[in-house]
Amino acid sequence: FGDKFKQPKGSWNCSVCLLQNKAEDSKCVACQSEKPGSSVPVTSSSVSASSGGFLDLDKFKMPEGSWQCEACLVQNKAEAAKCIACDSAKPGTKAELK
Ligand SMILES: [Zn+2]
Ligand SMILES: [Zn+2]
Repeated sequence: FGDKFKQPKGSWNCSVCLLQNKAEDSKCVACQSEKPGSSVPVTSSSVSASSGGFLDLDKFKMPEGSWQCEACLVQNKAEAAKCIACDSAKPGTKAELK
C-alpha cells in the first residue's frame, strides 16, 4: 500500500474517484467517500489460546506444595520426597507425565 504515501505528507487519494484530498479531510471532498484507513480496525492477530495440555490439575487442589501419594493416597508435605506411609516416590519428580 505504499503508493498512497508518495503524496504530500498526510494527503490521501480517494479510493473511489482517486481525487487527492488533504490530510485534514476525513472524507473525499468530491464523492464523500471515507478516507481509506481511517476507520479500518486493526486486525488483531488471532492468538489461539492453548487449550489444556497442562499438568493434571487434580494435584493442585491440596494445600500449596503438598502432594498425594498415588499408591496409598496419603497426603504428604511439599518437602517430602517420598510418601511417608509407603515410601513411594513423589509423583512428578520423575519425568513421567501420563
Ligand atoms: Zn472521492
Ligand atoms: Zn503412599
